[in-house]
Order: sequence, then C-alpha cells, then structure tokens
Amino acid sequence: MTRYYCTACGYKFEPKTDRVPQVCPYCGRRGTLVKEGSAQDLLNELDEMDDG
Ligand SMILES: [Zn+2]
Repeated sequence: MTRYYCTACGYKFEPKTDRVPQVCPYCGRRGTLVKEGSAQDLLNELDEMDDG
C-alpha cells in the first residue's frame, strides 16, 4: 500500500483507492501530497510548487 505525505501539514495517510490523491484530507491543500519515502519526488514537487 502506498502511503502519502502532505508537505504542507505533515499528515500521512493511505488512500483506499488506486487514484492518486490531489487534496490533503487533513488541511485541504491541493498539490502538496507526495509518496512517503520518495525524497526525490519531494524535491521535484517543491521545485514545481515554488510559489513563495
Ligand atoms: Zn495537509
């Protein structure tokens, strides 16, 4: 099971569906979720999401 981690609030969870979650179920932010344990993906996300 894939675990996801919210870079905005730090919430971790396992979605029950195969779909990649787009919105954090805890803080409601969009585009902040990354696969837990994937540091490279996290860096890529941060680089793309650089909005200040
Ligand atoms: Zn969150």
